[in-house]
Amino acid sequence: MEGSRSVPEQTDGLTLRTKIPLSEHTSFRIGGNAAYWAEISSVPMLAAALELCRSYGLPYFVLGRGSNVLAADEGYTGMILHLGDAFSAVSLHGNTLVCEAGASLAKTAKTAAQAGLTGMEGLSGIPGTIGGALYMNAGAYGYEMKDIVTECQYMDDAGGLHTLPAETLALSYRHSRFMEQPGIITSVTLTLRPGDKDSIHAAMQELLARRSEKQPLQYPSAGSTFKRPAGSYASLLIDQCGLRGMRVGGAQVSEKHAGFVINTGGATCRDVLTLCEKVRQTVKEQTGYTLELEPVILGKAGDTACS
Ligand SMILES: Cc1cc2nc3c(=O)[nH]c(=O)nc-3n(C[C@H](O)[C@H](O)[C@H](O)COP(=O)(O)OP(=O)(O)OC[C@H]3O[C@@H](n4cnc5c(N)ncnc54)[C@H](O)[C@@H]3O)c2cc1C
Repeated sequence: MEGSRSVPEQTDGLTLRTKIPLSEHTSFRIGGNAAYWAEISSVPMLAAALELCRSYGLPYFVLGRGSNVLAADEGYTGMILHLGDAFSAVSLHGNTLVCEAGASLAKTAKTAAQAGLTGMEGLSGIPGTIGGALYMNAGAYGYEMKDIVTECQYMDDAGGLHTLPAETLALSYRHSRFMEQPGIITSVTLTLRPGDKDSIHAAMQELLARRSEKQPLQYPSAGSTFKRPAGSYASLLIDQCGLRGMRVGGAQVSEKHAGFVINTGGATCRDVLTLCEKVRQTVKEQTGYTLELEPVILGKAGDTACS
């Protein structure tokens, strides 16, 4: 480990950017600067970025669209490996889509719909990447990543590439094996079913409309702030406890949907975490249910050290 050397900004076809505001790359619009930012556009570039992390003793964090991330006010001292639009090819092979991890769910669902393939309608409005969606096993309206993923490819810390079948991914409610066994998802294979194009488009439109009717989409947030506790719904419990509209600084429990904490303007990570703790305590005291945060914290506790 040689943490005291200064990290070169250009190496091996990789250009590093420095001091990037995380508030501009997360849907919550919260977070200080990331010390280093690598915009990944290929598998070799990802391997080069990991090599740099290894040789300079830098921690890294994999970021997709930042739609389920709460970034620390102090920022991040490591390297952000961003898998987004530059790494987002989607190719169609019969009923199968092979997607680079940075492809958005919206783009992938559109490709599926245009090909007359059903199975992604409820996922099309989730504002994340395919990689982030697999990591979180994202789902909505009865659709879930686990029902359509057949295989994925990931890179380990040492730059090795591996292919895993879906059965080994430990996919369950907002859970995948990558939460316990780190790996950077590079590509995901989805297998869909033939359907009627018009019905697929109609279902997508209907579910998008339902989202904007029920969710406070005009405010920055990370979507549902708490996971669904077994036997109930977080929004229902929060509402029952009279917490709709509760505020700490710029963070507020949405008036429109009590399951969302929103940034009404200038909210800090501290505001959000303080508000969430108050909500958790009140819900525990009044209902007995324990609420667990859904967004991932990017900051001291949220990184992976390269071995
Ligand atoms: C308005 C709104 C509505 C939402 N609605 C829903 C919903 O209906 N259902 C739902 O499930 N979620 C929902 N979300 C949450 C979020 O969009 C999903 O969890 C999404 O899948 C996250 O994808 P991302 O690319 O933004 O991941 P990020 O937020 O960037 O990252 C999330 C986690 O995934 C990891 N990760 C990202 N990419 C990779 C990769 N390639 N390899 C390994 N790890 C990776 C990150 O390190 C991080 O730990 C919503 C969010 C918002 C803001």
